[in-house]
Amino acid sequence: MNKLLFLDRDGTLVYEPHDYILDDFSKLEFYKNVIYFLRKIVEETDFKLVMVTNQDGLGTPKFPEEKFQKVQDLILKILANEGIHFYNIHIDRSYPEDNLPTRKPGTGMLTEYIEGNYDLSKSYVIGDRLTDMELAKRLGAKGIWLDQEPALGANEIQVSPLDLDTTIMLQTQSWEAIYKHLTWPI
Ligand SMILES: [Mg+2]
Repeated sequence: MNKLLFLDRDGTLVYEPHDYILDDFSKLEFYKNVIYFLRKIVEETDFKLVMVTNQDGLGTPKFPEEKFQKVQDLILKILANEGIHFYNIHIDRSYPEDNLPTRKPGTGMLTEYIEGNYDLSKSYVIGDRLTDMELAKRLGAKGIWLDQEPALGANEIQVSPLDLDTTIMLQTQSWEAIYKHLTWPI
């Protein structure tokens, strides 16, 4: 059965800009060491990579589609040139107040993995927000939290942070630590 790594984008693969809108190359910066260690993860494990990202207001005048896509394309090209390819990419463009089931921590974009030939109990969600960790819990997957102070996403989770303790396998700010966790022989 297929194992998946559900990867958040902003704050996980690239740093989140101060205004939360990555719409210009000048705002693009990859997370420290992510390319090197993600490449090693791809080379040494059989996880399939699935990007899952909330992009609030994408397609509105404040965050035009073309500006998003230019930066997104460059991110994907840089990663692909290092042998890092995505099996699938899911983008939700709603706002928190829309309460859509597709917005993380909702699993609405990911039903194909719940129903398909995937071993979610051996899969991970890697992200910088507690909403990513709640997504992991809802999927029956494990969570790796690239945590920050104060915790991001605390206002959007629908469980107590304590309820995520058993989901979060690793809390770190280091992609080397993530690599070691995922490749540790069991
Ligand atoms: Mg994030």
